[in-house]
Amino acid sequence: AALDAIEASQPTINAFTHVDREVALAAAAVVDAKRAAGGKLGPLAGVPVAVKDVLCTHDMPTTCSSKMLKDFRPPYDAGVVERLRNSDAVIIGKTNMDEFAMGASTENSAFGVTRNPWNTDRIPGGSSGGAAACVAAGTVPLSLGTDTGGSIRQPAAMCGVTGLKPTYGRVSRYGLIAFASSLDQVGPIAWSVPDVALLLQTIAGFDRRDSTSLNLNISRYSDGLESADLTGMRIGLLRESMDRDGVDESVRQATLTAADVFRSLGAEIVEIDLPHNDYWVPTYYVIAPSEASSNLSRYDGAHYGHRASDISGDDELGPLVTTYCRSRAEGFGDEVKRRIMVGTYALSEGYADQYYSQALKVRRLIKGDYDTAFGQVDLLLGPVTPTPAFPLGEKVDDPIQMYLCDLFTVGANLAGVPAISLPAGLDASGLPVAVQLQAPVLEESRLLMAGA
Ligand code: GLN
Repeated sequence: AALDAIEASQPTINAFTHVDREVALAAAAVVDAKRAAGGKLGPLAGVPVAVKDVLCTHDMPTTCSSKMLKDFRPPYDAGVVERLRNSDAVIIGKTNMDEFAMGASTENSAFGVTRNPWNTDRIPGGSSGGAAACVAAGTVPLSLGTDTGGSIRQPAAMCGVTGLKPTYGRVSRYGLIAFASSLDQVGPIAWSVPDVALLLQTIAGFDRRDSTSLNLNISRYSDGLESADLTGMRIGLLRESMDRDGVDESVRQATLTAADVFRSLGAEIVEIDLPHNDYWVPTYYVIAPSEASSNLSRYDGAHYGHRASDISGDDELGPLVTTYCRSRAEGFGDEVKRRIMVGTYALSEGYADQYYSQALKVRRLIKGDYDTAFGQVDLLLGPVTPTPAFPLGEKVDDPIQMYLCDLFTVGANLAGVPAISLPAGLDASGLPVAVQLQAPVLEESRLLMAGA
């Protein structure tokens, strides 16, 4: 049924970069055979799960929606993909994204844009636009996205589904193709909080192959979700961020309504501020491109990835440098090139002190704001995105406007804390609006309990 639904929606939504009926049915048949043999089945037995195309899968291409990796078939599975298979899930296909996860609208894909199922003239958000859109379209119940600066929460918000960015280190990055290694996390997208909890349970945990993986006990994420009592919980309402210019009235109203709902369930709402919020976007857009410029240096047309053809030996740079330059020029899209240039500049001798090192110091201040806030409250409540889904093409030629979509999401990545995007109704034109909850490190259970 999921394969048929994907086939029907793909021409309009384009949520997938790859679906192979045979491979998916073969995976389902393995689960069936196990069931028939009386074997013990995992918690996701037979459930179709879509996986963002930045996560390595040994039996499907892994492209990062880039021409650079168009023909790349990894020889191994990512840690999270292994865990999905061990829980007897059926990996149904790979989802479209902004190239190398750089973007907020899924318009930076080498394989065409993904459209928002609520209104196909609108973007689905990004970079995990395909992963959110395929759940919103009802084609699969669960998907995996990745979040470096909001890429799970922002598309989940714009597509009216639920998405969680775990604590940095909670979920393995092994086999996740790196964008900005100190910020990247894999996380679940689903319709409801209980489904998000179930998928988080499957993917969370220690992996010795990721040096930043946390070797700590995992909570039972599905526990306590039915409790509707928030007595004793203090929730900090991020009032200043909500009242900023450029924040849509529907987003403001949804946040206030959510505060009322939490209050009616027993929580105490206090107004709070993360004072360095103005510096989040500039800090992120120094650190993320710096790490990206380093991580993406491996795509040189020699080791692997797209390789320019017809390199003549008589070019004055010599065949190796020419291969390197032409392969990168042809293989990467404009936004990826922009990030590589910004990052290389920010890291270069004479500038690193002014930009990269400075950004690291501001990152500490931002983390400090979270520590102070979580000394006073248990959770933070605020917007996910300044506006609901905007029209396709509106911001694609204006990088600064696109970067400002990340105004409320990058803080959680810079501080390493978990955060969830929750559907919070529709605006006047019928587009989804969402709210965000953020919690101290490793308090995913608290996010899920309040979110449910
Ligand atoms: N929109 C942000 C960016 O372009 C976040 C992307 C992400 O989380 N992968 O970098």
